[in-house]
Amino acid sequence: MSLANGRSYLAIPGPSVIPEVVLRAMHRASPNIYEGELHDLTDSLIPDLKAMAMTDQNVAIYIGNGHAAWEAALANTVSAGDTVLVLATGRFCIGWGEIATYMGITVQTIDYGDAASIDLTQVEDALRADTGGKIKAILAVHVDTSTSVKNDIAGLRRVLDAAGHDALLMADCIASLGCDRFEMDAWGVDVMVSACQKGLMTPAGISFVWYNAKADAAHPARVSRYWDWRARTDPDQYFQYFNGTAPTHHLYGLRAALDMIKAEGLDAVFARHQTLARTVWAAFECWSVDSPLGLNIADPVNRSHAVTSVVAGSPNGDVLRRWCEHEAGLTLGIGLGRSPADAYFRIGHMGHVNAHMIMGVLGTVQAGLIALDIPHGTGALDAAARVIAAG
Ligand SMILES: *Cc1c(COP(=O)(O)O)cnc(C)c1O
Repeated sequence: MSLANGRSYLAIPGPSVIPEVVLRAMHRASPNIYEGELHDLTDSLIPDLKAMAMTDQNVAIYIGNGHAAWEAALANTVSAGDTVLVLATGRFCIGWGEIATYMGITVQTIDYGDAASIDLTQVEDALRADTGGKIKAILAVHVDTSTSVKNDIAGLRRVLDAAGHDALLMADCIASLGCDRFEMDAWGVDVMVSACQKGLMTPAGISFVWYNAKADAAHPARVSRYWDWRARTDPDQYFQYFNGTAPTHHLYGLRAALDMIKAEGLDAVFARHQTLARTVWAAFECWSVDSPLGLNIADPVNRSHAVTSVVAGSPNGDVLRRWCEHEAGLTLGIGLGRSPADAYFRIGHMGHVNAHMIMGVLGTVQAGLIALDIPHGTGALDAAARVIAAG
């Protein structure tokens, strides 16, 4: 007998749960890629993608995962020999910096470790120290999926302005888009990257770069032919949108996902993520009493609404994850980028998730803690239920 039989649940921070309507929208014959419905559908995505980022500026779609968007954003704005400032609050911004290093870009890093958000004062000091204006761009992650920290991106704009520094502000919203509020234009972000498989609920495979006029003006003289965002945002050159064959079925899937978000309303989507995140936190605040368990980010203001990183003690993280998967059909996220990795796990609560799914995750974790004899405080499920009950 296995209690894992039945519908499995992938509760990792991306890829996220794919809604049935998205899967159904993709289940079709290949469309004509030269004209007709697919072109109209693609055109219809552009304003909705801009609305997701709260921008009136430009968006380019790439076939590729988030790593592709990272490279695209850099290829259109900086050249080999230029310097970028990486603000590391976990594995992901470091990864973006590694892509830059491979492109011959000089990377200056401020590393805030694995459990803290960006310290704006330190950024301002680094910008003021750069009297020659060597730093061409700041690379920051809105929500770092490895640590579940959320950074103050609007604060970075204030710091750039206060220091009178001209660097581009580039943000990675791959984990946060459609989960944690992000306002590209109001926050003064020049370039933003995201991908489709997290808050946008579509199978991994397409990613996006939003950019404003200032970022476009930084366009290097010799931009990569493939990554060049200009041809990809010219509505008169449909074939160039993708520099080759369109990601046909992904476009249908994304259309359905964006329709779901529009029907719910972006503010309601954010509110749902916030309440579900608070539900998870409430459970861990109880479990962590006299226990090796704890939330990775201490201050709720700096916690993501899309993912929660948990300190569990080695090897509890791995042991609990395996128990949940093999005994209950629930897959949790690994301690990505952490050392030792088996001392951590992560819960994804992004995209197509609701109250009963999150209560199911928490109830399963509770069962695992009991089965494995991992010390934990009491009252977690009651506390979680109270958050759901309050709405
Ligand atoms: C998932 C993620 C990435 C990487 O995206 P891939 O599609 O796996 O390349 C980058 N940054 C953040 C913040 C992420 O959550």
